[in-house]
Amino acid sequence: MAPSDPTSKPSAPIVFCHYIVSIGARRTSSVPTPMSPSRTRLAPLCLLSVISLNTTFARSAPVPAPCTHKGVELQVLGSGGPELEDQRASSSYLIWQDGRPRVLVDSGGGSALQFGRASAHVAPLDAIFFTHLHIDHTADFPTLIKSSYFEERDRPLPVYGPIGNDFFPTTTEYVADLFDDKHGAYRYLSNPGYQLVAHDVDLKEHEVRVIYKSGDLAASATKVIHGGVPALAWRIELSGKSIVFSGDTNGNNGNLEILAKDADLFVAHNAIPEGETGAARELHMPPSVIGRIAGTAHVKALVLSHRMLRSLGHEDETRAKITAVYSGPVTFANDLDCFR
Ligand SMILES: [Zn+2]
Repeated sequence: MAPSDPTSKPSAPIVFCHYIVSIGARRTSSVPTPMSPSRTRLAPLCLLSVISLNTTFARSAPVPAPCTHKGVELQVLGSGGPELEDQRASSSYLIWQDGRPRVLVDSGGGSALQFGRASAHVAPLDAIFFTHLHIDHTADFPTLIKSSYFEERDRPLPVYGPIGNDFFPTTTEYVADLFDDKHGAYRYLSNPGYQLVAHDVDLKEHEVRVIYKSGDLAASATKVIHGGVPALAWRIELSGKSIVFSGDTNGNNGNLEILAKDADLFVAHNAIPEGETGAARELHMPPSVIGRIAGTAHVKALVLSHRMLRSLGHEDETRAKITAVYSGPVTFANDLDCFR
């Protein structure tokens, strides 16, 4: 199911391929339109980029507060999930620059409502990056696309995510499964008036690669282990600030330490308490592992998110385990918190 990537070499510049998922004439209304012949899966386009993680950053403590809309800010749209009883939206993060929403990482259930509460819009976004395609990281994606019908956007919207396997679609397949004009579940939304361009990010085991670069914005990715789920961690660099998202992972492959090196903010998923065993531990990082990675990478500040029922209430113990091996500031995130 994964797309071929025969030209990629371990130390070569990035080569990855994407497919244009939806091309069409500008919409004139949001009502269903007659289907046009499928134009999905056009010939893959390959882009080149280079690794560049050497950036200098200003030190800052992760103090949650309302967004000021000045400079680069991280807003947590979803700090919980997937359990609804946590009364938090599922994973989603928005990066603002001077009041403009630039980057969205994940769009779990409930996060579209928080996106609206944050007064954000889809039209200004440069790109959307998925860590993986579990529902608590993707469910509100079609909700955002529908909302964009009521905005003005002309330029393509790139969407990046992992490759697939026998149990998960590729990101390209996932987007087509939703919006393909013949077969998509939401085929009536196949033409939002702009191109929705999906990309499958295929990386080698310990590769860290710049996947997207445009002006002062760059996004690098590496593979992380999340059971059998194809999963990525992302590093977003914008105007001299670096923010790293662990996504869901057990933290065991050593890649996060490299991706997060000297980052201004490291958003780590605190889905389990210390001592968790079995499948939960196979999928997620305990606090001691989060602390080890944060310390090894010398991140300037740590934000803990994806707070599940089993980790909520363990904050004191979690903080103690982390600060035993990481000396920087640690903050537990709540929905709509803003960090800078
Ligand atoms: Zn998750």
